[in-house]
Amino acid sequence: MNVYDSERLQGLLLSKGHRITRNPEDADIIVLNTCSVREKAERRALGRLSEFYRYKQRNPDVMLVVTGCMAQRMGGELVEQMPYLDLILGPDQIFQLPEYLQNHSDYSRVAVCSSREDFDFKQIWESEILPQRKTPFTSFVAISRGCDNFCSYCVVPFVRGPERHRPADQIIREIQLLTESGCKEVTLIGQNVNSYKFGGKDFADLLQMVNDQTKIDWIRFMTSHPKDLSEKLIHKIATLPKVCEHIHLPLQSGSDRILEKMNRGYTSQDYLQLVERIKKSIEDASLTTDIIVGFPTETEDDFQKTQDMMEKVKFDSAFMFRYSKREETKAAILVDDVPEEEKLKRLHTIIQLQKEISKKKNQNLLGKTFKILVDETSKRDENKWKGKTKTNKTVIIEGVKDLLGKIVLVKINDADSFTLFGSP
Ligand code: SAH
Ligand code: SF4
Repeated sequence: MNVYDSERLQGLLLSKGHRITRNPEDADIIVLNTCSVREKAERRALGRLSEFYRYKQRNPDVMLVVTGCMAQRMGGELVEQMPYLDLILGPDQIFQLPEYLQNHSDYSRVAVCSSREDFDFKQIWESEILPQRKTPFTSFVAISRGCDNFCSYCVVPFVRGPERHRPADQIIREIQLLTESGCKEVTLIGQNVNSYKFGGKDFADLLQMVNDQTKIDWIRFMTSHPKDLSEKLIHKIATLPKVCEHIHLPLQSGSDRILEKMNRGYTSQDYLQLVERIKKSIEDASLTTDIIVGFPTETEDDFQKTQDMMEKVKFDSAFMFRYSKREETKAAILVDDVPEEEKLKRLHTIIQLQKEISKKKNQNLLGKTFKILVDETSKRDENKWKGKTKTNKTVIIEGVKDLLGKIVLVKINDADSFTLFGSP
């Protein structure tokens, strides 16, 4: 969501006549869009901000802007710590930046801590300005903002506010504009896409609309909350031709005791049943997940249950994190009692386990043929090309340049834990 906000902000600034430079020393305005989800992300952002002082010393007129979740969470505290910052905008105010810039002299050195009362839906949803992306062939499209789930460890509902759903016609409009500009694939994003509701339409209906009413080739989506993944939605994923057979379905923990403390709203048994239903209905579905280790009170036994679930489900890949305490959340009152060293040990254990599972799953694909959307050159070798299967697997292929932006059939020749290698 932060990447999407950054990309849309760039698109918006370009449309107002600004130019983008990657070199902060050349810039008149420097924007840092921040994440609060884990302490590490905030620490990194604070480190970057302390460097910003240098830019101000060199050029007192440079405007230093902090946006996003950390701006929302810390607000005035940030300005107190770093009085050289000029403007602080939370995630709902971010797209007001051009207005502030227009009135630079008035707003210079003012902290604007966001309040949701002046939230302007129009500014967020109705813009005809497309995100400025790394490659033109793929794009995020937000379908909602905020979250109402209040998982006990999570700061998102506090910094991004309550869940608000984007009108379906505006989602369709954005995708139409994207396809007109050459985009082939969209990823519909929200903290919990499965709870989308607007004007009597749910997420399954929205998928149907995007499938039928736009010229996009492939439709991806994330994130799916296990408690809201309906039978109707599974059926749509299975049957709509443009919808990709990949579900990102965060498990978080395999222990029912911990899941309850996390306020996730399902048990490990519920989760397994859901996975069975998905595997039965959606041929070759790929499943990925998020896992947290070291949640307060997590014992060796709880941790073993997480590993057991990973063995049972056999995720295609996983994002794995060690728990970090976030102020305001319900879990913040629990004693963060798993020692850091133990958290790291558990994290390394499951990273290793997942690596083996991913490798085995990927090697099962050798000799098979998949469609991929080629969207970039390979980072390591400019004569190689990178794309993704509908199941969200990265494939590196050797080929000629004119494959860029095309959906091509590729035969898989080799595979490791993270990547497939193939030839067209
Ligand atoms: N709405 C999405 C994404 C939330 S943030 C979802 O529910 O999946 C992405 C991931 O960060 C979460 O799934 C969780 O695994 C992790 N996360 C969130 N808060 C965390 C915390 N306090 N410590 C460690 N990991 C956290
Ligand atoms: Fe956070 Fe839970 Fe909402 Fe995801 S669903 S953003 S983890 S509160």
